[in-house]
Amino acid sequence: MRRADPAAQPQPLRAVVAREEPGSATVLTLGAHMCKWPIGDPATDGFTFCGRQAGEEGPYCVEHARIAYQPQQKKGRSGPSELARSLRRYI
Ligand SMILES: [Zn+2]
Repeated sequence: MRRADPAAQPQPLRAVVAREEPGSATVLTLGAHMCKWPIGDPATDGFTFCGRQAGEEGPYCVEHARIAYQPQQKKGRSGPSELARSLRRYI
């Protein structure tokens, strides 16, 4: 049985992401019409927002709006949409 070695896990480095890539916006750079879908853990430095062009009807891009407004499948956990709602207080 193999031991899981954290250092051996292949992790794609995405240091600089393109404008249209999810996760390109931070609390500081997030604009009014940018997708506010949280990516990552708010407690870490790597936390970002999607940052893509948000749709007309909500704070998310088309892709994330589809996820946000579909019924939650997992119960007993707070989903990303709930997290986003709490974050909007200081955006
Ligand atoms: Zn998005």
